[in-house]
Amino acid sequence: MADQVDVIIVGGGMAGASAAFFLADKHSVLLLEAEEHCGYHTTGRSAAVFEENYGTKAIREITRASRDFYERPPEGFVDVPLLHQRGWVFVANEEQLHLLDSVAQDLEDAGLPPERHGPEFYENLVPIAKPGYAAGCLWNPVSSDIDVDALHQAFLRGTKAKGGEIVTRARVDQLSREADLWQVRCGDRQFSGAILVNAAGAWADELGQMAGCEKIGLVPKRRTAMLIKSPEGVDVMEWPAVVDAEESFYFKPQSGMLLASMADATPSPPCDAQPEEIDVATTIYRVQQAIDMPTARPEKTWAGLRSFVADGTPVVGYDPKVEGFFWLAGQGGYGIQTAPMMGQLVAELVDGNPLPQRVIDEGLSAEDLSPLRL
Ligand SMILES: Cc1cc2nc3c(=O)[nH]c(=O)nc-3n(C[C@H](O)[C@H](O)[C@H](O)COP(=O)(O)OP(=O)(O)OC[C@H]3O[C@@H](n4cnc5c(N)ncnc54)[C@H](O)[C@@H]3O)c2cc1C
Repeated sequence: MADQVDVIIVGGGMAGASAAFFLADKHSVLLLEAEEHCGYHTTGRSAAVFEENYGTKAIREITRASRDFYERPPEGFVDVPLLHQRGWVFVANEEQLHLLDSVAQDLEDAGLPPERHGPEFYENLVPIAKPGYAAGCLWNPVSSDIDVDALHQAFLRGTKAKGGEIVTRARVDQLSREADLWQVRCGDRQFSGAILVNAAGAWADELGQMAGCEKIGLVPKRRTAMLIKSPEGVDVMEWPAVVDAEESFYFKPQSGMLLASMADATPSPPCDAQPEEIDVATTIYRVQQAIDMPTARPEKTWAGLRSFVADGTPVVGYDPKVEGFFWLAGQGGYGIQTAPMMGQLVAELVDGNPLPQRVIDEGLSAEDLSPLRL
């Protein structure tokens, strides 16, 4: 292993892996991950949705600019499709009908004008829809499922193929800067590099403090999810994703079952997040309002931390005060769908270059992401 590299990336989730893949084109790269597996925390716990009408303006711009990579990844990157078109149906009950106007406006603004339908549309797509639940719905046919594991593993594999190194079970516990180099300690091991990229997910503010940075005000928020077995004889695999008009729950097919969430966002310290029983029960209750599944029981439950700063937009760029410290944090609930363009733009910003033209064309500027805005 090289004694000294150009760039050390801390965190092997989707953020660190995509940054490593693109940075490794021009730099020697070392990625350090605390856990035994790189996707152990939030990256391994997502709902795997690609939805261009989701998140802040900047998130939408980065998501739209990521679509090309998803649809046409580089030669040899993966041997499976990264996107599977599924479609989202936004369902409103009688009291929520008025909300569909603003959801429709958002979709139109994102260049995805939805189809507007009556309840029968939802009832046809979801054969065990609860009669009388839906009063109206919107249909966005282009939103997709992401093969998260294929994407994440391909970034890691591709990093190694370009000469980058990945070290797991390497929890960074001390940082210092000496003679223009970061000295990075992981227990009794030490690594050094000119630039440090902070892709530590929910722990990004802790890592920043280790380096002497001011906090960016990151708040990890717990979200609960589960797989519910479908009723005997009901094949859910061709169902759309369903979200209620207030986003108080959603469900979609996964692994022959239904992945469901109450879309919770409970502030939490950085940790190995676990689901609370009340959140599991609430999710099931809400899903049961929309589909006829009286004995729904989860086969598997989990929770993960989605981390946000105050304005909900990721923080990407050099720290204004601490030399050689680059932030890549606050991906919220969008760190998978944005990863291809995020990795590309990180590689440019680390080198002091402008953003890639593809994302400038969508309307994004480096200032939108910079820690200076906070
Ligand atoms: C239930 C749920 C549903 C979601 N659905 C979607 C979705 O549909 N679409 C979407 O785009 N996004 C979704 N997300 C969000 C997405 O999963 C995250 O934005 C993304 O995974 C964040 O990636 P990350 O690399 O920043 O964080 P992580 O995957 O958490 O990676 C950070 C890594 O840093 C490591 N680390 C921390 N401190 C140190 C240290 N000191 N030394 C070494 N390593 C360290 C950690 O061990 C961790 O592996 C969802 C999240 C949840 C929880």
